[in-house]
Amino acid sequence: MSENCLFCKIANGVIPSKKAYEDEEFFAFHDINPAAPVHLLLIPKRHIVSLQDIQQDDAPWLGRMMALAPRLAEENGCRPGPQGGFRVVANNGTDGGQEIAHLHFHIIGGPRPWDKRA
Ligand code: ADP
Repeated sequence: MSENCLFCKIANGVIPSKKAYEDEEFFAFHDINPAAPVHLLLIPKRHIVSLQDIQQDDAPWLGRMMALAPRLAEENGCRPGPQGGFRVVANNGTDGGQEIAHLHFHIIGGPRPWDKRA
């Protein structure tokens, strides 16, 4: 846990969130400002800033985190199969548009049309 990290505080229940999933390693919650009908944030409980800090030996837990994405997407309203689907987005660093300095995957979807580019 990093003292002044908003997402560490959310994962520890110090700051409330609308929880979607929790296990020993990961926490997922609904984005406070959703960009689509389904907009979850999936984070590791351990404080790691971004994918820029990932080392080779992080691959196993990062793989487990990625493998959670389709499950959480479908459990929260994204349709399965090629007609359904979802986006996974990770913003990394300032040039990557990252606002909160704790690694997170945006899981974004839901029945279209919901985005102006559709
Ligand atoms: P961006 O805001 O450019 O998407 P990030 O990738 O860092 O940058 O995403 C941070 C996300 O965290 C935003 O989608 C924002 O709406 C969300 N957010 C910020 N504070 C909270 C909160 N207290 N609870 C849930 N989501 C939050």
